[in-house]
Amino acid sequence: MSVLIVGSIALDEVKTPLASRSNLLGGSASYAALSASFFQPVHLVGIVGTDFPKSHIDTFRARNVDLEGLQIVEGATFRWSGEYHWDMNTRDTLSVALNVFENFTPTLPETYRRSEIILLANIAPALQAHVLDQAASPRFVIADTMDLWIHIAKPALLDLLKRVNMLILNDSEARELAEEASLIRCGSKIRSMGPAYVAIKKGEHGCLLFGPQGIFSCPAYPLEDLVDPTGAGDTFAGGVAGYLASLKNGEVSFEAIRKAVVYGSVLASYNVESFSLERLKELVPKDIDSRFHIFQELSRI
Ligand code: AMP
Repeated sequence: MSVLIVGSIALDEVKTPLASRSNLLGGSASYAALSASFFQPVHLVGIVGTDFPKSHIDTFRARNVDLEGLQIVEGATFRWSGEYHWDMNTRDTLSVALNVFENFTPTLPETYRRSEIILLANIAPALQAHVLDQAASPRFVIADTMDLWIHIAKPALLDLLKRVNMLILNDSEARELAEEASLIRCGSKIRSMGPAYVAIKKGEHGCLLFGPQGIFSCPAYPLEDLVDPTGAGDTFAGGVAGYLASLKNGEVSFEAIRKAVVYGSVLASYNVESFSLERLKELVPKDIDSRFHIFQELSRI
Protein backbone atom coordinates (compact mmCIF):
# COMPACT_ATOMS: atom_id res chain seq x y z
CA MET A 1 0.00 0.00 0.00
CA SER A 2 1.40 3.39 -0.90
CA VAL A 3 0.86 6.43 1.27
CA LEU A 4 -0.40 9.77 0.00
CA ILE A 5 0.95 12.83 1.79
CA VAL A 6 -0.17 16.43 1.30
CA GLY A 7 1.16 19.41 3.24
CA SER A 8 3.56 22.32 3.10
CA ILE A 9 6.95 22.28 1.41
CA ALA A 10 9.00 25.18 2.69
CA LEU A 11 12.28 27.02 2.85
CA ASP A 12 12.87 27.52 6.58
CA GLU A 13 15.09 29.74 8.66
CA VAL A 14 15.67 28.28 12.11
CA LYS A 15 17.37 29.87 15.12
CA THR A 16 18.24 27.87 18.22
CA PRO A 17 20.16 29.14 21.27
CA LEU A 18 23.31 27.62 19.70
CA ALA A 19 23.02 28.13 15.92
CA SER A 20 21.11 29.71 13.05
CA ARG A 21 20.49 28.19 9.62
CA SER A 22 18.63 29.48 6.55
CA ASN A 23 17.25 28.14 3.25
CA LEU A 24 16.64 24.79 4.90
CA LEU A 25 14.30 22.26 3.32
CA GLY A 26 11.25 22.28 5.60
CA GLY A 27 7.49 22.06 5.59
CA SER A 28 5.12 19.51 7.08
CA ALA A 29 4.94 17.35 3.94
CA SER A 30 8.73 17.27 3.47
CA TYR A 31 9.37 15.82 6.92
CA ALA A 32 6.40 13.46 6.72
CA ALA A 33 7.31 12.19 3.24
CA LEU A 34 10.90 11.36 4.10
CA SER A 35 9.84 9.66 7.31
CA ALA A 36 7.11 7.55 5.65
CA SER A 37 9.45 6.60 2.81
CA PHE A 38 11.33 4.25 5.16
CA PHE A 39 8.25 2.00 5.21
CA GLN A 40 6.36 2.30 1.91
CA PRO A 41 6.36 4.24 -1.39
CA VAL A 42 5.15 7.83 -0.91
CA HIS A 43 3.01 9.95 -3.26
CA LEU A 44 3.70 13.62 -2.44
CA VAL A 45 1.28 16.49 -3.11
CA GLY A 46 2.52 20.05 -2.62
CA ILE A 47 3.65 23.27 -4.25
CA VAL A 48 6.96 25.12 -4.56
CA GLY A 49 8.19 28.12 -6.56
CA THR A 50 10.84 28.31 -9.24
CA ASP A 51 13.34 29.37 -6.54
CA PHE A 52 13.17 25.90 -4.95
CA PRO A 53 16.70 24.45 -5.05
CA LYS A 54 17.26 21.35 -7.20
CA SER A 55 19.24 19.83 -4.34
CA HIS A 56 16.00 19.71 -2.30
CA ILE A 57 14.18 17.94 -5.15
CA ASP A 58 17.08 15.48 -5.18
CA THR A 59 16.52 14.84 -1.46
CA PHE A 60 13.01 13.53 -2.25
CA ARG A 61 14.23 11.60 -5.31
CA ALA A 62 16.96 9.89 -3.28
CA ARG A 63 14.20 8.36 -1.11
CA ASN A 64 12.09 7.43 -4.16
CA VAL A 65 9.30 9.86 -3.24
CA ASP A 66 6.85 10.11 -6.15
CA LEU A 67 6.79 13.79 -7.23
CA GLU A 68 4.05 13.64 -9.87
CA GLY A 69 1.80 15.62 -7.50
CA LEU A 70 4.40 18.33 -6.84
CA GLN A 71 3.48 21.61 -8.55
CA ILE A 72 6.43 23.86 -9.46
CA VAL A 73 5.01 27.28 -10.36
CA GLU A 74 6.31 30.77 -11.15
CA GLY A 75 7.02 32.64 -7.89
CA ALA A 76 8.63 32.11 -4.50
CA THR A 77 8.35 29.02 -2.29
CA PHE A 78 6.53 29.20 1.07
CA ARG A 79 8.93 30.53 3.72
CA TRP A 80 8.81 30.13 7.49
CA SER A 81 11.18 31.34 10.16
CA GLY A 82 11.20 30.43 13.84
CA GLU A 83 13.33 30.88 16.94
CA TYR A 84 13.53 28.39 19.83
CA HIS A 85 13.76 29.39 23.47
CA TRP A 86 16.46 27.96 25.75
CA ASP A 87 14.26 24.94 26.65
CA MET A 88 14.23 23.91 22.94
CA ASN A 89 10.54 23.14 23.33
CA THR A 90 8.79 26.50 23.00
CA ARG A 91 9.40 28.71 19.99
CA ASP A 92 8.32 31.99 18.41
CA THR A 93 7.35 32.17 14.76
CA LEU A 94 9.37 35.12 13.41
CA SER A 95 7.87 35.29 9.90
CA VAL A 96 5.64 33.46 7.45
CA ALA A 97 5.49 34.23 3.71
CA LEU A 98 2.81 32.17 1.97
CA ASN A 99 4.04 33.06 -1.54
CA VAL A 100 2.95 30.33 -4.02
CA PHE A 101 0.88 28.75 -1.24
CA GLU A 102 -1.60 31.61 -1.52
CA ASN A 103 -3.08 30.14 -4.73
CA PHE A 104 -2.53 26.45 -3.99
CA THR A 105 -5.21 23.99 -5.03
CA PRO A 106 -3.98 20.49 -4.28
CA THR A 107 -4.80 18.26 -7.25
CA LEU A 108 -4.31 14.50 -7.12
CA PRO A 109 -2.81 12.84 -10.20
CA GLU A 110 -4.91 9.86 -11.34
CA THR A 111 -2.36 7.38 -9.96
CA TYR A 112 -2.66 8.90 -6.45
CA ARG A 113 -6.46 8.68 -6.12
CA ARG A 114 -6.52 5.05 -4.99
CA SER A 115 -3.99 5.52 -2.17
CA GLU A 116 -5.17 3.50 0.82
CA ILE A 117 -3.42 5.44 3.57
CA ILE A 118 -3.67 9.24 3.46
CA LEU A 119 -1.76 11.66 5.66
CA LEU A 120 -3.15 15.19 5.61
CA ALA A 121 -0.07 16.89 7.05
CA ASN A 122 -0.35 20.37 8.49
CA ILE A 123 -1.97 22.83 6.06
CA ALA A 124 -5.29 24.70 6.08
CA PRO A 125 -8.18 22.30 6.86
CA ALA A 126 -10.05 23.40 3.71
CA LEU A 127 -7.10 22.22 1.58
CA GLN A 128 -6.92 18.95 3.54
CA ALA A 129 -10.65 18.43 2.82
CA HIS A 130 -10.10 19.18 -0.88
CA VAL A 131 -7.61 16.31 -1.06
CA LEU A 132 -10.05 13.93 0.61
CA ASP A 133 -12.75 14.95 -1.91
CA GLN A 134 -10.54 13.56 -4.70
CA ALA A 135 -9.55 10.28 -3.02
CA ALA A 136 -11.37 7.09 -4.11
CA SER A 137 -11.93 5.09 -0.90
CA PRO A 138 -9.01 5.35 1.51
CA ARG A 139 -8.68 2.68 4.16
CA PHE A 140 -7.31 5.05 6.85
CA VAL A 141 -7.02 8.85 6.92
CA ILE A 142 -4.73 10.67 9.36
CA ALA A 143 -4.79 14.44 9.86
CA ASP A 144 -2.29 16.71 11.57
CA THR A 145 -3.09 20.29 12.52
CA MET A 146 -1.73 23.30 14.42
CA ASP A 147 -2.87 26.08 16.77
CA LEU A 148 -3.24 28.53 13.86
CA TRP A 149 -6.12 26.53 12.32
CA ILE A 150 -7.80 26.05 15.70
CA HIS A 151 -7.77 29.88 15.99
CA ILE A 152 -8.68 30.97 12.45
CA ALA A 153 -10.40 27.97 10.81
CA LYS A 154 -12.14 26.02 13.59
CA PRO A 155 -15.42 25.34 11.67
CA ALA A 156 -13.47 23.89 8.72
CA LEU A 157 -11.31 21.85 11.09
CA LEU A 158 -14.39 20.45 12.89
CA ASP A 159 -15.90 19.48 9.50
CA LEU A 160 -12.67 17.72 8.56
CA LEU A 161 -12.54 15.80 11.86
CA LYS A 162 -15.78 14.02 10.95
CA ARG A 163 -13.99 12.58 7.90
CA VAL A 164 -10.72 11.31 9.39
CA ASN A 165 -9.80 8.15 11.31
CA MET A 166 -6.99 9.68 13.35
CA LEU A 167 -5.95 13.16 14.50
CA ILE A 168 -2.41 13.99 15.60
CA LEU A 169 -1.79 17.16 17.60
CA ASN A 170 0.35 18.38 20.49
CA ASP A 171 -0.74 18.87 24.09
CA SER A 172 -1.33 22.63 23.95
CA GLU A 173 -3.30 22.27 20.69
CA ALA A 174 -5.40 19.49 22.22
CA ARG A 175 -6.24 21.71 25.21
CA GLU A 176 -7.24 24.56 22.90
CA LEU A 177 -9.36 22.37 20.64
CA ALA A 178 -11.12 20.51 23.46
CA GLU A 179 -11.21 23.47 25.87
CA GLU A 180 -10.22 21.10 28.66
CA ALA A 181 -7.17 21.11 30.95
CA SER A 182 -6.88 17.34 31.44
CA LEU A 183 -5.28 15.59 28.48
CA ILE A 184 -7.33 12.48 29.25
CA ARG A 185 -10.53 14.49 28.92
CA CYS A 186 -9.10 16.12 25.77
CA GLY A 187 -8.52 12.70 24.20
CA SER A 188 -12.08 11.51 24.72
CA LYS A 189 -13.61 14.88 23.80
CA ILE A 190 -11.66 15.07 20.52
CA ARG A 191 -12.64 11.46 19.75
CA SER A 192 -16.27 12.51 20.11
CA MET A 193 -15.63 15.12 17.37
CA GLY A 194 -15.00 12.34 14.81
CA PRO A 195 -11.62 10.58 14.74
CA ALA A 196 -11.65 7.11 16.31
CA TYR A 197 -7.98 7.56 17.24
CA VAL A 198 -6.27 10.64 18.66
CA ALA A 199 -2.54 10.94 19.30
CA ILE A 200 -1.54 13.75 21.66
CA LYS A 201 2.19 14.53 21.51
CA LYS A 202 3.87 15.78 24.68
CA GLY A 203 7.31 16.73 23.31
CA GLU A 204 10.08 15.32 25.49
CA HIS A 205 7.46 13.41 27.51
CA GLY A 206 6.26 11.12 24.74
CA CYS A 207 2.78 10.67 23.41
CA LEU A 208 -0.70 9.46 24.44
CA LEU A 209 -2.81 7.45 22.01
CA PHE A 210 -6.58 7.30 22.55
CA GLY A 211 -8.74 4.74 20.76
CA PRO A 212 -11.99 2.79 21.14
CA GLN A 213 -10.03 0.12 23.04
CA GLY A 214 -8.43 2.48 25.57
CA ILE A 215 -5.25 4.49 26.04
CA PHE A 216 -1.66 3.70 25.14
CA SER A 217 1.24 5.73 26.53
CA CYS A 218 4.43 5.86 24.44
CA PRO A 219 7.62 7.14 26.09
CA ALA A 220 9.98 9.62 24.45
CA TYR A 221 13.49 8.58 23.49
CA PRO A 222 15.88 9.90 26.17
CA LEU A 223 17.93 12.13 23.89
CA GLU A 224 20.65 14.23 25.54
CA ASP A 225 21.52 16.57 22.69
CA LEU A 226 18.67 18.01 20.74
CA VAL A 227 19.82 20.15 17.79
CA ASP A 228 16.59 21.34 16.10
CA PRO A 229 13.05 20.24 17.06
CA THR A 230 11.50 21.61 13.84
CA GLY A 231 9.37 19.02 12.09
CA ALA A 232 9.40 16.47 14.92
CA GLY A 233 5.60 16.27 14.80
CA ASP A 234 5.52 15.94 11.02
CA THR A 235 8.19 13.24 11.10
CA PHE A 236 6.16 11.41 13.77
CA ALA A 237 3.01 11.58 11.60
CA GLY A 238 4.94 10.35 8.55
CA GLY A 239 6.30 7.38 10.50
CA VAL A 240 2.80 6.48 11.74
CA ALA A 241 1.33 6.67 8.21
CA GLY A 242 4.25 4.83 6.62
CA TYR A 243 4.13 1.97 9.11
CA LEU A 244 0.35 1.55 8.72
CA ALA A 245 0.76 1.44 4.93
CA SER A 246 3.32 -1.35 5.31
CA LEU A 247 0.92 -3.73 7.09
CA LYS A 248 0.69 -6.89 5.06
CA ASN A 249 -2.95 -7.76 5.75
CA GLY A 250 -4.01 -4.11 5.47
CA GLU A 251 -6.01 -4.24 8.70
CA VAL A 252 -5.53 -1.17 10.88
CA SER A 253 -6.08 -2.39 14.46
CA PHE A 254 -5.38 -0.71 17.82
CA GLU A 255 -2.34 -3.03 18.17
CA ALA A 256 -1.04 -1.83 14.81
CA ILE A 257 -1.58 1.85 15.66
CA ARG A 258 0.25 1.40 18.99
CA LYS A 259 3.22 0.04 17.07
CA ALA A 260 2.90 2.80 14.48
CA VAL A 261 3.08 5.42 17.24
CA VAL A 262 6.33 3.87 18.49
CA TYR A 263 7.79 3.91 14.94
CA GLY A 264 6.68 7.55 14.59
CA SER A 265 8.47 8.35 17.84
CA VAL A 266 11.63 6.55 16.63
CA LEU A 267 11.72 8.59 13.41
CA ALA A 268 11.03 11.86 15.28
CA SER A 269 13.82 11.11 17.76
CA TYR A 270 16.31 10.90 14.88
CA ASN A 271 14.94 13.98 13.13
CA VAL A 272 15.68 16.33 16.05
CA GLU A 273 19.37 15.32 16.04
CA SER A 274 20.09 17.72 13.18
CA PHE A 275 18.71 20.71 11.31
CA SER A 276 16.17 20.19 8.55
CA LEU A 277 16.11 16.66 7.09
CA GLU A 278 19.84 16.09 7.41
CA ARG A 279 19.62 13.19 9.88
CA LEU A 280 16.67 11.53 8.10
CA LYS A 281 18.59 11.67 4.80
CA GLU A 282 21.35 9.50 6.30
CA LEU A 283 19.12 7.08 8.18
CA VAL A 284 19.21 3.36 7.32
CA PRO A 285 16.61 0.70 8.28
CA LYS A 286 18.84 -0.85 10.95
CA ASP A 287 18.91 2.51 12.81
CA ILE A 288 15.12 2.36 12.96
CA ASP A 289 15.12 -1.23 14.22
CA SER A 290 17.72 -0.57 16.90
CA ARG A 291 15.88 2.43 18.36
CA PHE A 292 12.55 0.58 18.15
CA HIS A 293 14.06 -2.05 20.48
CA ILE A 294 15.28 0.67 22.85
CA PHE A 295 11.70 2.01 23.00
CA GLN A 296 10.46 -1.48 23.85
CA GLU A 297 13.01 -1.77 26.66
CA LEU A 298 12.09 1.68 28.00
CA SER A 299 8.57 0.58 28.79
CA ARG A 300 9.09 -3.10 29.66
CA ILE A 301 8.14 -4.13 33.21
P1 AMP B 1 6.53 21.52 13.41
O1 AMP B 1 7.87 21.74 14.04
O2 AMP B 1 6.07 20.10 13.47
O3 AMP B 1 5.52 22.49 13.90
O4 AMP B 1 6.69 21.80 11.84
C1 AMP B 1 7.49 22.84 11.37
C2 AMP B 1 7.32 22.97 9.87
O5 AMP B 1 6.00 23.46 9.60
C3 AMP B 1 8.30 23.98 9.30
O6 AMP B 1 9.19 23.29 8.42
C4 AMP B 1 7.43 24.99 8.57
O7 AMP B 1 7.89 25.25 7.27
C5 AMP B 1 6.04 24.38 8.54
N1 AMP B 1 5.00 25.38 8.80
C6 AMP B 1 5.05 26.44 9.64
N2 AMP B 1 3.89 27.14 9.61
C7 AMP B 1 3.08 26.51 8.71
C8 AMP B 1 1.74 26.73 8.23
N3 AMP B 1 1.00 27.77 8.64
N4 AMP B 1 1.23 25.87 7.33
C9 AMP B 1 1.96 24.81 6.92
N5 AMP B 1 3.21 24.54 7.32
C10 AMP B 1 3.78 25.38 8.22
